[in-house]
Amino acid sequence: ETPSPVGRKTGVVSTMAGTKALLTLENFINGKFVPCSSYIDSYDPSTGEVYCRVPDSGNEEIEAAVEAARAAFPGWSARSPQERSQVLHRLADLLEKSLEDLAQAESRDQGKTITLARTMDIPRSVQNFRFFASSILHHTSECTHMDHVGCLHYTLRAPVGIAGLISPWNLPLYLLTWKVAPAIAAGNTVIAKPSELTSVTAWMMCKLLETAGVPPGVVNIVFGTGPKVGEALVSHPEVPLISFTGSQPTAERIAQLSAPHCKKLSLELGGKNPAIIFEDANLEECIPTTVRSSFANQGEICLCTSRIFVQKSIYGEFLKKFVAATRMWKVGIPSDPSASMGALISKAHLEKVRSYVKKARAEGARILCGEGVDTLSLPPKNQAGYFMLPTVITDIKDESCCMKEEIFGPVTCVVPFDSEEEVIQRANSVKYGLAATVWSSNVGRVHRVAKKLQSGLVWTNCWLIRELNLPFGGMKSSGIGREGAKDSYEFFTEVKTITIKH
Ligand code: NAD
Repeated sequence: ETPSPVGRKTGVVSTMAGTKALLTLENFINGKFVPCSSYIDSYDPSTGEVYCRVPDSGNEEIEAAVEAARAAFPGWSARSPQERSQVLHRLADLLEKSLEDLAQAESRDQGKTITLARTMDIPRSVQNFRFFASSILHHTSECTHMDHVGCLHYTLRAPVGIAGLISPWNLPLYLLTWKVAPAIAAGNTVIAKPSELTSVTAWMMCKLLETAGVPPGVVNIVFGTGPKVGEALVSHPEVPLISFTGSQPTAERIAQLSAPHCKKLSLELGGKNPAIIFEDANLEECIPTTVRSSFANQGEICLCTSRIFVQKSIYGEFLKKFVAATRMWKVGIPSDPSASMGALISKAHLEKVRSYVKKARAEGARILCGEGVDTLSLPPKNQAGYFMLPTVITDIKDESCCMKEEIFGPVTCVVPFDSEEEVIQRANSVKYGLAATVWSSNVGRVHRVAKKLQSGLVWTNCWLIRELNLPFGGMKSSGIGREGAKDSYEFFTEVKTITIKH
């Protein structure tokens, strides 16, 4: 049975947290919910039980979504930015009204703590619509007058058409709306495919689109797995643009499938993010922030720290205090407001994360706290859930896979360094380049180091403070392209240069 979260009249999605009924999602195509011929099971990470059925869509559903998006494009793209902006603002208001219900659903679906869902995921989803609703009004075009040949040149930006949007499971609604909002603000119509592991809040959002005034066919959401419906979307010749956030191997596949069509691609991928802690750092601020940057959302944020380089003179002190602070980080059921960490996304992912700790131990590294060292105590009814303690590893070589590969879980490595030059070289020695953190009270040093780090983002003496206007994205295997006000606008539009001889 599907509990009805519809509030078409009130524009509020009702709660489904704690419901015992199996939730069955439907695709949202051309403004309507459409059942699918087959479904896949989705698990509650905190119990390990199936609680939701997600459409197992494929080519047929993509064809229907393309038809709807194609039909809606002329009308939507012809609207003024002001008109589209108003629709986005209304959608933001409706999402905000449903904040608590969306937060509970996100927490249950993904395993994140209810506190994080309430304070970060859902508020940021609301903010994504408000932000792009405003920024779309401020783009200007370029204009050059060449008197000597009697010409006026100017640029014009037009929406690309049907945008394919593919998002991951770690920040489900947050990252989906970070793509939907700029795409439709710029006048495109979209086909979005959320992760099959966390589809519920995207489905809940669909209930609000009509009330917000989003015309049928402008936002289509198709659920299912990457290899089946994801590839059908990427391969479709009428979808000229793919905005993808996810892992590097999937990005490689998307790039291969897109190559024959020369599709426009935005790829936001993984990281192996370093935190560099110099001896003049303010440890009182640095330690709690670095615990948070390592373990927030169970370490399942692409920006999480997973290599901590500490200058030798303060290494012992840092390690002692860092481990003590990590041990205070409470693992609990996601609905517990006092929990700092909830459950990992799936059994397979939990096993993968644990296998990294095992490998490190086998290589002779020391596990200072967490996996295999401390005992996890949770209420017995939740023992089947995918829980793990935050884990700190030390005495590990830079060549170890734990220091090179993205683990994407609550595991971080702490190692000492001597000099500035040495630590920059070591921090840059991995294939990723997404987000680095530098801790020092020497302003000259932080500028110098930030300049030399191969990283799309560098936070100094802080972590995860975002200015949405500015570019977001990674270097090297962390991705291609940037997202943000100007960057997303440029990605979701095509530029033309027009010359008029007068
Ligand atoms: P993933 O690559 O497995 O899946 C991401 C999305 O792609 C999902 O919707 C999935 O169904 C789809 N997909 C999978 N195979 C596909 C295929 N062959 N064709 C088309 N689509 C396909 O990634 P994930 O496990 O969901 O997410 C974790 C990864 O995402 C980590 O590497 C993390 O660092 C990265 N990430 C990056 C950012 C960023 O902004 N840079 C943000 C969040 C997560």
